Amino acid sequence: MRIARFSREGDVAFGVVEGGHGNGQADLAPTELAVAEISGHPFGAGVVRFTGARHRLADVRLLAPVLPSKVVAVEGTYGEDPRAAGTARQAGQHGGPVLFLKPSTAVAGPDDPIVYPGKLTSRVDFEGELAVVIGRLCRQVPPERAKEVIFGYACANDVTARDLQASDGQWDRAKGFDSFCPLGPWIETDVDPADLALTTRVNGTIKQRTRTSRLRHDIPALIAFVTEVMTLVPGDVLLTGTPAGSGPLEVGDEVAVTIEEIGTLTSKVVSRD
Ligand code: MG
Repeated sequence: MRIARFSREGDVAFGVVEGGHGNGQADLAPTELAVAEISGHPFGAGVVRFTGARHRLADVRLLAPVLPSKVVAVEGTYGEDPRAAGTARQAGQHGGPVLFLKPSTAVAGPDDPIVYPGKLTSRVDFEGELAVVIGRLCRQVPPERAKEVIFGYACANDVTARDLQASDGQWDRAKGFDSFCPLGPWIETDVDPADLALTTRVNGTIKQRTRTSRLRHDIPALIAFVTEVMTLVPGDVLLTGTPAGSGPLEVGDEVAVTIEEIGTLTSKVVSRD
């Protein structure tokens, strides 16, 4: 099931995205997507209740599918990334990846731009990543129980001011600007994340291409690693790291992160100044 959050005529609601694979419904073209509104909040409720309202996806504004209390991210978790290999050596003492947080206010929706703060940075990079959305309050989750705490998966872009990351040492500024965490286009709740193709394009040109099976630490291991440190609450987001090929964005660019069986998250880059 694909759970989206959207606004229409000033109202915000969650909905289930339908169609796109030939849905056989008379009022929709075979490939047209629609969103069926649901009541309340889909997290932890157990049962999704439809209100009966149904909208063409083109007629709504998609919002970030979740408002997390925190976005927990890991750096350098794909085996083929030379930068990741360096980080992994650094982190070798404890055997896990380097963790950092992005503020909840960095989260942006699929119809929101990435806002380039050109007075503070001259190097803003994309990082296409698989996002894991947490469905249950949890701490100290063993890998074999990680599945129980996952609500679903989305595409994410861990946008990074690379120059500030290098100059600051701490990454809060580099990773934390408003709009530096596009998330979406929705949450896919029924997909096995073990071996999905992930592709990042800038203005249509492929820049990153990998499979999630190349993650150095798989998702259960990452959830175990993170929850040894901090409690995760429903809606929290875990970014699983980016593959090789991350590079700069310029104002006017369009960056698209596509994950097989989930969807495509497209963001335009605009200037803040
Ligand atoms: Mg990253």
